[in-house]
Amino acid sequence: MTANLFDILARSITDAGATAIETLAGEQISYGDLVARTGRMANALVALGVSPGDRVAVQVEKSVEAIILYLATARAGAVFLPLNTGYTAAEIAYFIGDAEPALFVCDPARVADLAQAAEQAGARMATLDASGLGSLTDAAEAAAEDFATVPRAADDLAALLYTSGTTGRSKGAMLTHGNLVSNALSLRTAWSYTARDVLIHALPIFHTHGLFVATNVTLFSGASMIFLPKFDIDRIFELMSRATVLMGVPTFYVRLLEDDMLNVETTAQMRLFVSGSAPLLAETHREWRARTGHAILERYGMTETNMNTSNPYDGARVAGTVGLPLPGTEVIVTDPETGVELPQGEIGMIEVRGANVFKGYWRMPEKTAAELRANGFFITGDLGRIDDKGYVHIVGRGKDLIITGGYNVYPKEIEAEIDEIPGVLESAVIGIPHKDFGEAVTAVVVPTGSPTLTEAAIVAALEGRLARFKQPKRVVFVPELPRNTMGKVQKNLLRDHHAGLYQ
Ligand code: ATP
Ligand code: MG
Repeated sequence: MTANLFDILARSITDAGATAIETLAGEQISYGDLVARTGRMANALVALGVSPGDRVAVQVEKSVEAIILYLATARAGAVFLPLNTGYTAAEIAYFIGDAEPALFVCDPARVADLAQAAEQAGARMATLDASGLGSLTDAAEAAAEDFATVPRAADDLAALLYTSGTTGRSKGAMLTHGNLVSNALSLRTAWSYTARDVLIHALPIFHTHGLFVATNVTLFSGASMIFLPKFDIDRIFELMSRATVLMGVPTFYVRLLEDDMLNVETTAQMRLFVSGSAPLLAETHREWRARTGHAILERYGMTETNMNTSNPYDGARVAGTVGLPLPGTEVIVTDPETGVELPQGEIGMIEVRGANVFKGYWRMPEKTAAELRANGFFITGDLGRIDDKGYVHIVGRGKDLIITGGYNVYPKEIEAEIDEIPGVLESAVIGIPHKDFGEAVTAVVVPTGSPTLTEAAIVAALEGRLARFKQPKRVVFVPELPRNTMGKVQKNLLRDHHAGLYQ
């Protein structure tokens, strides 16, 4: 039996008439339509020269056609490579130069800008715009509907997904059919997803969260999703009266909390709010519960592994934790220096193993060998601990750990204390080079606008609450923290920007 994710999806369809995707324009695409349209698209891909194992690189706006292209690529046995819509021509040249796709699909408005990069990478070009029109759609419409899905083994590649590049240059994670299917099925069970679910899909689809978590879980459940081109507060409030699930990054929840419309009544129809991609503040979790009666379910994953842990659907969703390992995924905490597993409760490197863990980094055998152990554990780069109930707590990224005067300082602990201070909206704590301490603990603070908030006031508030070595040597105020499209704080930019603070 083939392990092609499309075959497994197609076999799970019980109601071909049920709606899979709905758009704001009122278009409704049934599961039957999806199968037929992916058949046409797969034929078009083959006609454009795509063979099994080839990469199909895609930089397009969110549309139903883009999802069809993803599924059709799987049907054709090729490897789907979605790219952030914000990438510039130079960035695209790097990614497609690295991945060498057979085909590069982009917005018609960008052809002139990107043609040279495509040519250099040896890729043919096709176009697809935000409304789903373009040369690719034309080719699909002219093609036949029947397509014999190319058989794939569980460890054949289905996608090449580049990491967000938060800690350095993005790496291509090779994800297999087995990785994607196993994670979709385990999340379906973990979150009690059924065909009756209606997801408000407001995330981009070039990233694990919007593409694999949101889309795969919905499709593998026979559920439906309403596609919003982007995060749109008014639309979300409108849709909450007939939807059941929202998946978002923490900033979605922070923004919704700022709106007076958020209350028990407006969220009464919803059964689940999921957060991930970046840490959700415990305070946001508490405020959300107080206002709506719903406990946000926080989960933890990454490009290389899809999802690893989740707070339980039934059971305590603990604020400030990312929950328990998903069935089939092992999570351990090891000594970052030696790799030896640490006793329960201690902080160290989070490592994960399971059917969800990727096959390695594309064309980076050394990096793969350094981060993926022979015993199957992937060294995530995130630091954390597992509490006595088995819940995983993330304390930050290994690369953000501050070593000051020989002591380890975990930024999250300091940030949590600073965030409690009246007048502070949020904060990021970073290490800045310092001649005496090696690195100096430095707080970057976004004030709520309170005129009394000063550096001295923050330092005074932390006195007695944190050991001296953990207290910031300096506090700098900024109007907002730099974030990428997935809401992740870009601490590397902050470190670069403030690099000279102690010189
Ligand atoms: P790069 O690997 O290129 O530096 P990145 O790690 O930000 O970028 P992604 O794979 O998109 O790229 O993000 C995964 C990371 O996001 C995780 O390693 C973790 O640091 C963070 N993350 C995801 N979910 C959570 C969460 N619920 N709480 C805290 N951090 C999270
Ligand atoms: Mg990463």
